[in-house]
Amino acid sequence: MKKYIFIVGGVMSGIGKGVCSSSLGKILQSRGFEVTAVKIDPYINVDAGTMNPTEHGEVFVLNDGMECDQDMGNYERFLDRDLSRKNYMTTGSIYQAVINRERNLEYSGRCVEVIPHIPLEVLIRIDKVFAKNKTDIVIVEIGGTVGEYQNILFLETIRMLKIKKPKDVILALVSYLPLPNNENELKTKPTQYAVRTLNSTGLQPDIILARASTVLDKKRKQKIMFNCGLREEEVISVPDVESIYEAPLVLEKQKLSSLILKKLNLRARKTNLDDFKKMVKNIKNARKIVNIGIVGKYFNSGEFILADSYLSVIEAVKHASYYFKFKPKIDWLDCKEYETNPEKLKELLKYDGIIVPGGFGGRGINGKIKVIQYCRQKKIPFLGLCYGMQLAVIEFSRSVLGLKKANSTEIDSSTPYPVIDILPDQKINLAEKKYGGTMRLGAYNTMVKKSTIAYSAYKSFLISERHRHRYEINSLYVQKLEKKGMIFSGVSPDGLLMEIMELPKKIHPFFVGTQFHPEFKSRPLNPHPLFKEFIKRCADYKKQKVIASPIKIGVK
Ligand code: GLN
Repeated sequence: MKKYIFIVGGVMSGIGKGVCSSSLGKILQSRGFEVTAVKIDPYINVDAGTMNPTEHGEVFVLNDGMECDQDMGNYERFLDRDLSRKNYMTTGSIYQAVINRERNLEYSGRCVEVIPHIPLEVLIRIDKVFAKNKTDIVIVEIGGTVGEYQNILFLETIRMLKIKKPKDVILALVSYLPLPNNENELKTKPTQYAVRTLNSTGLQPDIILARASTVLDKKRKQKIMFNCGLREEEVISVPDVESIYEAPLVLEKQKLSSLILKKLNLRARKTNLDDFKKMVKNIKNARKIVNIGIVGKYFNSGEFILADSYLSVIEAVKHASYYFKFKPKIDWLDCKEYETNPEKLKELLKYDGIIVPGGFGGRGINGKIKVIQYCRQKKIPFLGLCYGMQLAVIEFSRSVLGLKKANSTEIDSSTPYPVIDILPDQKINLAEKKYGGTMRLGAYNTMVKKSTIAYSAYKSFLISERHRHRYEINSLYVQKLEKKGMIFSGVSPDGLLMEIMELPKKIHPFFVGTQFHPEFKSRPLNPHPLFKEFIKRCADYKKQKVIASPIKIGVK
């Protein structure tokens, strides 16, 4: 059984197409089918690794080291499955494969053309996800929106497959219905245009998921039905919800899985979405607030603040908070502000925990280092992720080891104290200008030391986590750092790389950094142990803060 559900977007991007695709996957999975998801990005970039997060959002990393779109994170989180590089492709990677085939004479001297060879390559790739996984249904999300020149080849792919396998392919359009300020009704016209554009490529949507700030009423639904040629049950209302994990429940309330199974000629099995139902109930009932500050630099986009660059970190905080029935309140703190205004550091006291996530380059790092120093000195729970850990080691080296000019060679190549230095094989990559897909990427094992915070979180001596970096703690400084109290509670199995750093519990309630990105492995139904430990300590810290200071800390 090979069934395909294609998802395309209408009207505009950023309306939750990824969450809709993941939710669709979740409800079909809940009917007893093995579901996987594929994302196709219409970029020439061969993968997402070379894209700036402020432009493209988070670069999500899979176990096998694939650097991909943040939607892949949503699929993994909703479906609770590890995906592989087969589940992600870009225009660039498809062209690259076709050109390689041509060079290898695999087209036997024929003329290689955009149509049909590009769509055929896409189909070969999609079919690969069926081969090993014993998958029943694949959800294929096409990036961007219909009408964009760059996804036309993917629409052609759908058209070709629909002709070949009419009973096995359906197409869903996730469209947006605006509610303009001066109007009191959801407007359906942009969706009608989107469908007409789709029609001009030879495609008719089987289902429309009508995203809007509010519920789609009967009248507007009828307008879409009439003008877009769909039946009532094929127009699904997807209003804004408090938590994205509610979306599958919203879809299922409208009997979407049964409709899809009928369209795909699959025999319906019993629904069981109890796990998500329970989680959503917990989210709604969460009362106690835990205040988390995330200090980053990939927030500003023109005049707007976007937090997409840190999506998995945010989700991991949420998963762990929901686990304890806490309501997480997350603030985005721009690290640059701490560089110029030291008074601002005091505001950190209002948080129950601070996270310094991953990053690259020198911009804003002095602000991050100041924040880390403040957290260390004021005993505010701190979690450093990748760059966050490296900067914590720099701060410690400067303040505690007295190496004032300690730095990472990423920031200052001639620092006298390179406490963070480039990995030897990475040096070669950079010298040869091999930037794309060459970092230390994907899952690696870490040995966890007994009687550490890391061990109390993981409760295991051997863990596997996902990496994405070129630099690491310089082994020449490990003993010096240890002498002053830093603990390397996680190391690579060969003992050479320091993967987890922490300060002793008697010195600080929670000061932990990881060279890897634990956030990529957190799942809503299976929160990450380190984030759980962090949130637990944040809540303890909050409690103790209230006891220690009955007067509220005045921060506006
Ligand atoms: N820039 C650092 C490195 O390459 C950290 C990378 C990251 O935070 N993902 O090692």
